[in-house]
Amino acid sequence: MMKSKNALQEEMFSQNRSKALLEQAKSYAYDYLDGIQERNVFPDGEAIQNLAGFGEPMPEEAGDPAEILKLLHTLGSPATAAHIGGRYFGFVIGGSLPIATAAGWLADAWDQNAAMYATSPLASQLESVCEKWVVDLLGLPDGTAAGFVSGSSTATLCGLAAGRNAILKRLGWDPDENGLFGAPSIRVIVGGQAHSTVYKALSILGLGRARVETVPVDDQGRLIVGKMPNLDSTCLVIAQAGNVNSGCFDPINEICDLAREAGTWVHIDGAFGLWAAGSREKKYLVKGFEKADSWSVDAHKTLNVIYDCGIVLCKERGALLSAMQMSGAYIPASDKRDNMNYTLDMSRRARGIELWAVLKSLGKSGVEDLVDRLCGHALRFAGMLASEGFEILNDVVFNQVLVRFSSPEMTRATMEKIQLSGECWCGGTTWKGEPAIRISVCSWATTEEDIDRSVKAFVEGRALATA
Ligand SMILES: *Cc1c(COP(=O)(O)O)cnc(C)c1O
Repeated sequence: MMKSKNALQEEMFSQNRSKALLEQAKSYAYDYLDGIQERNVFPDGEAIQNLAGFGEPMPEEAGDPAEILKLLHTLGSPATAAHIGGRYFGFVIGGSLPIATAAGWLADAWDQNAAMYATSPLASQLESVCEKWVVDLLGLPDGTAAGFVSGSSTATLCGLAAGRNAILKRLGWDPDENGLFGAPSIRVIVGGQAHSTVYKALSILGLGRARVETVPVDDQGRLIVGKMPNLDSTCLVIAQAGNVNSGCFDPINEICDLAREAGTWVHIDGAFGLWAAGSREKKYLVKGFEKADSWSVDAHKTLNVIYDCGIVLCKERGALLSAMQMSGAYIPASDKRDNMNYTLDMSRRARGIELWAVLKSLGKSGVEDLVDRLCGHALRFAGMLASEGFEILNDVVFNQVLVRFSSPEMTRATMEKIQLSGECWCGGTTWKGEPAIRISVCSWATTEEDIDRSVKAFVEGRALATA
């Protein structure tokens, strides 16, 4: 029987009054957290097959929320990858600090639209504070602007948009009004191992993937400064702090010095690596990075804030603001921070809430401890694998480790066995034309025991692959 509209609304009020739904969700979440260290790190075949249970036609009639939540838990939880556990080492995927999850729950209950001061003074204030704190923590110039976006892909898009427009304006062209057709040409310079999202941003921004000038890289994937083309004021250089494979850092200091002399805009893709700036031990990796013009960094990777949270930083506030500018008759003028002026989105979630909570709970010393711990675990992982006869292909300077076994076929087969074991999860990559296993230590929850247990999974995986 169809329920009347009012009946449905009355049920929803009653769900809020009884608190049963959130209690139910909380209990599932605790179940999930309790089991996280012992469950399969990647869902098994059965769990994945059961996902077909979601594949029904769009329901005609209203469903029972308690049943729906139960279905989500029953089918969904076993089919998740244990990103928040201690032995997921795939891609570069951060865990989630308990304070981030908790603040996220509260933020979900608030459901703030972070667009403007007029929509949410709270979101405006927390993002202003996060801007100041991140700039201070990283050691960037005072007044550097920050926009809070879904991730580094978008952060890079925003940073490069600011750079592109600033370059064109200096050349006497107004891209905001006139677009790119007929504009002076911009030269884009990237290292040979720039991240794929950089190319995506370049193509969206009309700068093209194929017309970039690519600088050769060394054996770790670092751009070779001596091979850079001559720079001038029409150039946009994109450097990297943290290569997704080897974890290496471009020689940022030298790049920035050359760029400065030439009046070139430098953007740094520091999705996971920029946080090196928060560690006294690792800071040397980003030396001179404060001389760049814009930066992208993720809070959902190294910093272990929940998804999604990326940050675009831009030294010249006006350059970011003018690239992201919008207005409308119904939008009130404001002398407070309107978050939408710093990013692509108008309406969006107030991701500054969890970021604020994480920064406040860690403090500078906690960030340093987290960065140092991830890097320390990567070194331990690499050292133990080397003594078990695996070949380590990179200098482990940060949280990434590349591993190979006797032949390409054996490397691939070993990786598959490791993935099937459910003990830990590592992905693959191609390094210098050959397959390699790629380890990224990115969760606060990883312990030395997790590393030991994972090394054992490597050894057993190799034995199964060899058998
Ligand atoms: C992860 C990553 C990106 C993309 O970031 P998202 O947050 O996934 O959009 C870009 N560059 C590097 C170096 C990365 O590691």
